[in-house]
Amino acid sequence: STSRLVVGNWKMNGSLALNQTLLAGLLEKTKATPEKYATVQLAVCPSFPYLAQVQQALSGSSISWGAQDISLYTEGAYTGEVSVGMLMDFACQWAIVGHSERRSYHGETSQQVAEKARLALSQGMTPIVCIGESLEQRQEGNTLAIIEQQLKPVLALGEQLKNIVVAYEPVWAIGTGLTATPEQAQEVHAFIRELLRQQQAPQVQILYGGSVKSANAASLFAMQDIDGALVGGAALDADEFLAIAIA
Ligand code: 13P
Repeated sequence: STSRLVVGNWKMNGSLALNQTLLAGLLEKTKATPEKYATVQLAVCPSFPYLAQVQQALSGSSISWGAQDISLYTEGAYTGEVSVGMLMDFACQWAIVGHSERRSYHGETSQQVAEKARLALSQGMTPIVCIGESLEQRQEGNTLAIIEQQLKPVLALGEQLKNIVVAYEPVWAIGTGLTATPEQAQEVHAFIRELLRQQQAPQVQILYGGSVKSANAASLFAMQDIDGALVGGAALDADEFLAIAIA
């Protein structure tokens, strides 16, 4: 785990006023003691309508930003969708794809998620590909099989595979306060690393997500194959998010 990547997924939270407070908090602290954040890459992913606000606030700072999803299509008659090109207009560096909330509430398949990753890469955006098993799948002993199945179409991306980020987010740990133990997470991260290694992409950053907070972040980051975090609830508080970043 050399340079740590910590990404805030704001999900469907925020408002112009709340975001302004959050962004001001992030900027104030990171600018006051930049040396503390020198080895951390920080990013935030707001809802689409706030990308312009976030871009304006964070341009020229050390914090980058991205989207929570992208359309499978590049343009045309797809009401309600947002294309990669549109996101590039707002200088998004990142796009979360395949979050478990998209997979479960919107029926996204692993094949579609891989296609979204391919689209993002084709326009120079870095996809953060989310994978993770449900509680039932874990209890049935199927965790690694599910991970492999979800990652399989992504592993076929070829030459561009090395430019993605993977986020392991066990569904049972998301928003539940039930974080995976560092050992549980490391087991899956090591497995993902091996799958990436087999495709000549061992250096891909693998983030952990699911009830990360400042109190448990250090023990997760201490694990060999945990390269950072994808943070939900705790990313909505500037102090807490930054405490995770430097835990
Ligand atoms: P929580 O940190 O709120 O558990 O959410 C994790 C997550 O889904 C980030 O994408």
